[in-house]
Amino acid sequence: MGSIAENIASVQQRIRAACERSGRRSEDVTLVAVSKTKPADMVREAMQTAGILDFGENKPQELRDKCDILPSEIRWHMIGNLQKNKVKYVVPRAVLIHSVGSKDLAKAIDKEAAKEGKIAQILVEVNMAHEASKGGVSPEECPDLVREIAALENLRIRGLMTVAPATERAEDNRVYFRGLRDLAVDIDAENIDNVSMCELSMGMSGDFEIAVEEGATLVRVGSSIFGERDYSIS
Ligand SMILES: *Cc1c(COP(=O)(O)O)cnc(C)c1O
Repeated sequence: MGSIAENIASVQQRIRAACERSGRRSEDVTLVAVSKTKPADMVREAMQTAGILDFGENKPQELRDKCDILPSEIRWHMIGNLQKNKVKYVVPRAVLIHSVGSKDLAKAIDKEAAKEGKIAQILVEVNMAHEASKGGVSPEECPDLVREIAALENLRIRGLMTVAPATERAEDNRVYFRGLRDLAVDIDAENIDNVSMCELSMGMSGDFEIAVEEGATLVRVGSSIFGERDYSIS
């Protein structure tokens, strides 16, 4: 691993190459640097040395704590499991909540957004591989969930998100990324009020190039930028 700036440059280069291979524009892909478990100083370094402004966190309190001490131009993305009683930490601070997999959670976000006088921007998380260990709605149930959530007044659905299975061979996940894009195209064709399918949040350190080739607009990359995470100390 190099410095944070070198790692980011290398990830950005790989995103550009994947865009070239698939005839896409690299401006259409946003790199979300996943800073979970990493200290605020590393976020600051990524910002100052590489100009990154989009950061992802998977724990509501950690997002709150970092947001409240770091510069306000940072765009915080909530990418992890969110419980209803924690939406109060996230709704006022996150530009996008990627991990909405149920109507109940969407309702709680809607209620909090109303209290804050804002419109919450969300993605619907889809469990493409039907993994028991993962959150998200099944692809089969996704269109119905989108229709139900769309009726809530204080949030906007901007697209879909998936966390693909952990695998040694990134190519194995292409089917899930392609499946998510196809699902978004089908939902978009329904022209549901308050729903746009502009964003596809997919791809992590192990498989973001495949995700970009399949249409990702947001890639969530942590360890390739900040190094391995040590969960024993937090
Ligand atoms: C941790 C995490 C990532 C980043 O994972 P890396 O493999 O470290 O790039 C992406 N998305 C979600 C939802 C995560 O929890």
